[in-house]
Amino acid sequence: MSSLLVDNIGELVTNVPGTGDGSPLGLRRDAAVLVEEERVAWVGPARYAPAADRRIDAGGAAALPGFVDSHAHLVFAGDRAAEFAARMAGQPYTGGGIRTTVGATRAASDDTLRTTVRRLVGEAMRQGTTTIEIKSGYGLTVADEARSLRIAAEVSDETTFLGAHVVPTEYADRPDDYVGLVCGPMLAAAAPYARWVDVFCERGAFDADHARAILTVGQAAGLGVRLHANQLGPGPGVRLGVELGAASVDHCTHLDDADVAALAGSAAADGSGTTTVATLLPGAEFSTRSPYPDARRLLDAGVTVALATDCNPGSSYTSSMPFCVALAVREMRMTPAEAVWAATAGGARALRRTDVGVLRPGARADLTVLDAPSYLHLAYRPGVPLIRQVLHNGVPQCRS
Ligand SMILES: [Zn+2]
Repeated sequence: MSSLLVDNIGELVTNVPGTGDGSPLGLRRDAAVLVEEERVAWVGPARYAPAADRRIDAGGAAALPGFVDSHAHLVFAGDRAAEFAARMAGQPYTGGGIRTTVGATRAASDDTLRTTVRRLVGEAMRQGTTTIEIKSGYGLTVADEARSLRIAAEVSDETTFLGAHVVPTEYADRPDDYVGLVCGPMLAAAAPYARWVDVFCERGAFDADHARAILTVGQAAGLGVRLHANQLGPGPGVRLGVELGAASVDHCTHLDDADVAALAGSAAADGSGTTTVATLLPGAEFSTRSPYPDARRLLDAGVTVALATDCNPGSSYTSSMPFCVALAVREMRMTPAEAVWAATAGGARALRRTDVGVLRPGARADLTVLDAPSYLHLAYRPGVPLIRQVLHNGVPQCRS
């Protein structure tokens, strides 16, 4: 068995509560991490580090678990830079541009889609992301949704069927028929390649009845539930997600007291947080020049919060988790510690994963070494490439 020691880590974020400094980040000073094959075998003080076949010297820099980006739309063709420019010149975001991407995606070859997915996964990895969820949702035919998920599943275990992203143009005047298609043949074709089912539950997209129908049949097909909720305005999505036991409700920009209470009420019996995570996507508010979600209100109510990129060509074309951390701190009043936890352990919770977003024996050896002495620099030095080294499944990926 080959072993690798990441040694001389000045500050290590473990996300193991009760260890290190006792904070949720489980911070350790002067630490080392031993990797055997693709797993973490040992974490402890550098001076007690066991011998290993190979060694990476972190040079006193900070290290943390690889980011877990639990919300991304990477299977698409074309881009919408012109729409972005128009929006920055004053046009509002309505979500209608999704149909533009649907047309381009349907017309694209498998190889074109595959190249884009792999380019974006690589781009995310160079920014420290080692787990990334990938949704379908720009095909919106049985064949195009199935191939989108097949291509996504080549690069990620976290794939999500989002046939209910928007009602496609050809079904514009008969949305009930489209929901029937999603619940029937489209789900059947998509489910073999998907772990999750998702719905864009929003005025102008899918209402609560449609969302409930789709999520319920998805659950019956063995998929976990997550949904886009309360992004563009108030609505029933968050409460529906909690009711259905969703792993995550995503966006959460427009919440009333009942929504927050519902999320807080999903607290797990073991005190580890809420069963339904609120995943905040500040790249979307940034890119649509919209008000940010109230992260403090959620955190103060005891809701488990995750951060993700929402990487997509329309409303948030960023793959950068460090950028989202910086936005969360500056614009959403999260502390740097809360934001880094949300981008790692929080994302893992949103995907119901216990083997990522954490550095302890048995976890997947996904680790990012920064070009900085502390995780604080992720928010303190926005826009700066601070990722020095990424280990994914125990394999060094890049060195800048
Ligand atoms: Zn999304």
